[in-house]
Amino acid sequence: TDRILTPARRPEDVDAALRPRHLDEFVGQKAARENLRVFIEAARARGEALDHVLFFGPPGLGKTTLAQIIAREMGTGFRATSGPVIARSGDLAALLTNLEDGDVLFIDEIHRLAPAVEEVLYPAMEDRALDLMIGEGPSARSVRIDLPRFTLVGATTRQGLLTTPLRDRFGIPVRLQFYTVEELTRVVTRAAGLLGLAIAPDGATEVARRSRGTPRIAGRLLRRVRDFADVAGAPVVDADVADRALNRMEVDRLGLDAMDRRYLTMIADIYRGGPVGVETLAAGLSEPRDTIEEVIEPYLIQIGMVARTARGRCLNAAGWKHLGIEPPAGSQD
Ligand code: ADP
Repeated sequence: TDRILTPARRPEDVDAALRPRHLDEFVGQKAARENLRVFIEAARARGEALDHVLFFGPPGLGKTTLAQIIAREMGTGFRATSGPVIARSGDLAALLTNLEDGDVLFIDEIHRLAPAVEEVLYPAMEDRALDLMIGEGPSARSVRIDLPRFTLVGATTRQGLLTTPLRDRFGIPVRLQFYTVEELTRVVTRAAGLLGLAIAPDGATEVARRSRGTPRIAGRLLRRVRDFADVAGAPVVDADVADRALNRMEVDRLGLDAMDRRYLTMIADIYRGGPVGVETLAAGLSEPRDTIEEVIEPYLIQIGMVARTARGRCLNAAGWKHLGIEPPAGSQD
C-alpha cells in the first residue's frame, strides 16, 4: 500500500538516521529491553555468543534497530539480509561461512525463507555446522563444515508464521508491543532533536497520538509535519501546527486514515457490525487479505475498535463511536 500510515518501510523513511544506537537510548519495550540486557551481560561475561533471538511484532516497532543494538552491545559485527532475498541454500551457506567470530546475522522476514534454505539453518543454529552435499547420485556424500560462533537474530510479524523446527531453535523469543503515546512522545522529541526541528511538548504529543503506536510512522509523520511548518513559516511545531498538518494528510485524531475508515464503515454499514469473515472484507475492500490482517487490523484491534472472533470481525463500541453511528438495536456489542 502507499498509505502514509503504512508501518512498512517507504522510500522516504530515513530510519537509519533516527535509530537509537544503544539499549539505554531505546525507548519503550521495557520488558524486552531489560531481559536483553541481562542475556547480553551474561553472554559477554562468559565470553560466549548470545543465544539466537527471534523478534516478532508488527513492522516499524524496532526489530532491526534492536538487532543492531545487540551487535553493538556485544561488540561484534553485524550482517543483515532478509528471507525473500536468500534464493538458494548456497547463498545462505556463503553468508554463514563468511561470518566473523561472534557476528550477529540479522534475517528480516525470516518466515519467508524457502524450505530448502531454512533446512541449512537448523544445523547452523544448533551445532554451528553446515552440511554440504558433494557430488550427485549414488556417489554423493555429505560433508560437515564448522562455522564461527554467531548469533542469528530473526524478525517476523507473527511468531505463528514460522515453522515449528525453526521457532524451536531460538533461545530468546521477544514479542514487541505497540508503543504508548507517552513513549512515542519521547521518540518524537528525540527525532525532532536529531532533525534540528523545534517542537513544543504538545506538538510532540499530537504527532505521537496519531502514529498508531509505531515509531517508524512517528518519524515519517514528523518529517511531513516539518514540511508544513516550514512552508507555513511556523517557527515551532506546537499542537496546532501538528494538528493542521496531520488533518491535511487526512490522518484523524486517533491516527486513522481513509483506509481504516472504509474498513470500519464496511463492517458497520454492510454487515451491521459483524461478525464478518476477513475474506469477505478483503473482497469488499479490494485489498489482499494479508494487508488487512498485517497492516490494518493490528492497530484497530489494539485500540479496541474491532475484535477478531472465531466467527469473524466485529465492531466494538469504540468503533461505532468513532464512526459516529448508533449500533443497530440487538447488535452484537
Ligand atoms: P522494524 O525492523 O521493526 O520494521 P525498525 O527497527 O526499522 O523497525 O524501526 C523503524 C524506525 O523507528 C527507525 O527509524 C527506528 O530508529 C525507529 N525506532 C524504532 N524503535 C524505536 C525506539 N524504541 N526508540 C526510538 N526510535 C525507534
